[in-house]
Amino acid sequence: MARIVMKFGGTSVADLDRIANAAGRVKRAVEAGDEVAVVVSAMAGVTNQLVGYVDKTSRVYDAREYDAVVASGEQVTAGLMALRLQELGVAARSWHGWQIPIRTNEVHGKARIEEIGTDNLDPRLKSGEVAVIAGFQGVSPRGRITTLGRGGSDTTAVALAAALKADRCDIYTDVDGVYTTDPRIVAKARKLERISHEEMLEMASLGAKVLQTRSVELAMNHGVRLQVLSSFEDKPGTLVVDEEEIVEQQVVSGIAYSRDEAKITLVKVADKPGVAASIFGPLADAAVNVDMIVQSVSSDGQRTDMTFTVAKTDLDRAVKTLEENRAAIEYEQLIADPDVVKISVIGVGMRSHAGVAQTMFRTLAEKGINIQVISTSEIKISTLVGEEYTELAIRALHSAYGLDTAA
Ligand code: ASP
Ligand code: MG
Repeated sequence: MARIVMKFGGTSVADLDRIANAAGRVKRAVEAGDEVAVVVSAMAGVTNQLVGYVDKTSRVYDAREYDAVVASGEQVTAGLMALRLQELGVAARSWHGWQIPIRTNEVHGKARIEEIGTDNLDPRLKSGEVAVIAGFQGVSPRGRITTLGRGGSDTTAVALAAALKADRCDIYTDVDGVYTTDPRIVAKARKLERISHEEMLEMASLGAKVLQTRSVELAMNHGVRLQVLSSFEDKPGTLVVDEEEIVEQQVVSGIAYSRDEAKITLVKVADKPGVAASIFGPLADAAVNVDMIVQSVSSDGQRTDMTFTVAKTDLDRAVKTLEENRAAIEYEQLIADPDVVKISVIGVGMRSHAGVAQTMFRTLAEKGINIQVISTSEIKISTLVGEEYTELAIRALHSAYGLDTAA
């Protein structure tokens, strides 16, 4: 007998038939003797629709009311799932965040979970009742409903698994696992049997959309065993586990990419102390996250070029902020380029193998792809290249690192 959290994403509960299919999976787990907490997303498309309602009603909205509206999608699914389970003869009830309670901070729209009470759920689970929990939501210190940021029901599931000391957290989705790269781009992409928390964290934050980044961070910190699997097929998915559990570690485990990048170059800024602060200070104040940064060596010792990337959605705000601060920064020209993609190779094996970066640079060079910006960490190398090279670059790297399937 195990205690498990089963999380169903939007496509897995997209209509009543799919909710019934998911409920069938829950019933089988209950019949196998497991204690089950179910976390549900809103039915596919519902959250987007709710966000649209808010946007159309109020341009600069009250985030507390945004949360009141968008959290409702999950509540509908939770009630329907509980009803379906009851129809199947399984004892079940729905739970909203405040009823558990899932306590968060007060950052409406992207709140963080601070504490989950288990006194209400624990005895019910032990008695065999299935708890169906509305994902994506919690309650603020002031008792208002909060949401955890888009994709946040993954985080609800992992946080609950940690709080309930569950043996496993199964994330049911519309793909059957985590792949070496996006199978829509590389037909020879392979499904990974296992991936370490740390690699999954990089994959998620560098563009792989399968799990919310925050949920992987939580799983890593609390040692939650995650499984990503399909709700439409009966086969094992990908296990996200501690590094020690992975026997045959590849040097590179996966290749992620993000088109959500834009590049800004400030031409000829003064090469003197305080310049970086004068650029990145105002950007931080404008809530623009800066990712990769390169400063080119100045030939005359007086002026230098500063290049960096921001999220594409932040580009206009970043440009406006820099223009407003032009007098203080003293740059000659600002060049904004939204047509870039960040491609990253990821693998904990990099810690112990030399030459991984060189393989990346050589492979891109052989394809005539110019690298615009580079950044590295212990287990990843990211390069910024022209967006038109996305497919070519990913396919070439996938082969170069020996990730292609045999057949
Ligand atoms: N329904 C929310 C969203 O679409 C949360 C989730 O599905 O994880 O972002
Ligand atoms: Mg999701």
